[in-house]
Amino acid sequence: MKEEYLDERGEKILRRLNREGILPSPYNFATYDSPSIDEYVVHDSTLREGEQTPGVIFSIEDKLKIGERLDELGIQQIESGFPAASEKQRRCIEALVDMNLDAQISAFARAKHEDIDVVADTGADGIVLSFSVSHYHRRHKFHNMNQEEYLDKLADSVSYAENYGLFVIYSAEDTTRENDLEFLKKAFKTAEEAGTDRARIVDTLGCISPGGMAYLVKEVKKVIDIPIEIHCHNDLGLALANSIAAVEAGASTVSTSVNGLGERAGIAATEEVVPALHILFGKSRFELSQLTKLTKLVEEITGIRVPPHKPITGKNATAHSSGIHQQGVFMNPKTYEFYPPELVGQRRKMYIDELCGRHGIRYIAENELAMNISENIAEKVLSKIKTAFSHEGRRSAYTPSELRELIIETQGAEVHGTDDNGKNSGKRFS
Ligand code: ZN
Repeated sequence: MKEEYLDERGEKILRRLNREGILPSPYNFATYDSPSIDEYVVHDSTLREGEQTPGVIFSIEDKLKIGERLDELGIQQIESGFPAASEKQRRCIEALVDMNLDAQISAFARAKHEDIDVVADTGADGIVLSFSVSHYHRRHKFHNMNQEEYLDKLADSVSYAENYGLFVIYSAEDTTRENDLEFLKKAFKTAEEAGTDRARIVDTLGCISPGGMAYLVKEVKKVIDIPIEIHCHNDLGLALANSIAAVEAGASTVSTSVNGLGERAGIAATEEVVPALHILFGKSRFELSQLTKLTKLVEEITGIRVPPHKPITGKNATAHSSGIHQQGVFMNPKTYEFYPPELVGQRRKMYIDELCGRHGIRYIAENELAMNISENIAEKVLSKIKTAFSHEGRRSAYTPSELRELIIETQGAEVHGTDDNGKNSGKRFS
């Protein structure tokens, strides 16, 4: 069957994904004109933005462990910290640089010569030059700095950093609330002319929509030739959607953080952006199977639990609970899984709770308990489970070991002709 709405490129990508066992919506590729995945860069900021999560302080060892795991995943760039903030931040960044990872290391600075000096001293490859562009920030943080003063300071800071040979990312803090679009364009153009290597559009307060973001990226792209990076906060739960909208509009680098950590509601999550780029836009260079391990490591280090229903890496993200879904998966996993759980380092799970069915029971028996059970036993076990939830007030799913006990008990009753209470049921002989 041919999908008429796909062009040759869309068809090719869809076929490639299908070969990997990924079965996304074909409509993703209906008007497909985004750049090739090989042009995308993920710039992970767990070690800088993630440390702005209330209560999260990384030790040097923590940062090195996370850095190593990000490198194994294939993340190309790591934003490592804010070295002007403390001696410890500086030592962390130097230690990361000394690890000689494949990933390049960047560090954060304000538009101040003394901050830029410190970044250059750490040996980092790149600098994230953060300079608030919105009128709110210029008025209240920078004492009514006008547009001309802003552009002068921007050009000066960029060329100062550029003279050190750093890869310069101009990070226009609060980009999305600056209402003078012509001034915004002028700022990005000024930064480019002063030697900036990449422009970062920043939704500092997480207050833009995907449509607004796509518009903004397209407008900025009209005036500059350097690549665009996107940094989206999650205050409205739109960080991932806004990042993808930006990519579709022409941004090629996404700033992320593992488990979505960051200031307030955090930013776009690495473990969601990476597979979304892969699944929505084609093949990627990332080792997706490392994702679940990475989020667990950051969960352990920070003590901030990953919710069970968290996309991709949550423990329920590849689990099936209702009997209808379990039966579908039992017949063919494609029915309720559009990618194989192993792709992201997960495994398929079935939950045995009030809504489960006998296929789920048989699946766990065979795959997790190495027990072969008949349809008849599965049916009887199911009936006991339904009774526990309907009449005995049970509220938690059965663990595999509880299920094992129930199966053994049911098989025993079958052999001996007794019911649950060990009494002769009498029915087999009636
Ligand atoms: Zn941020």
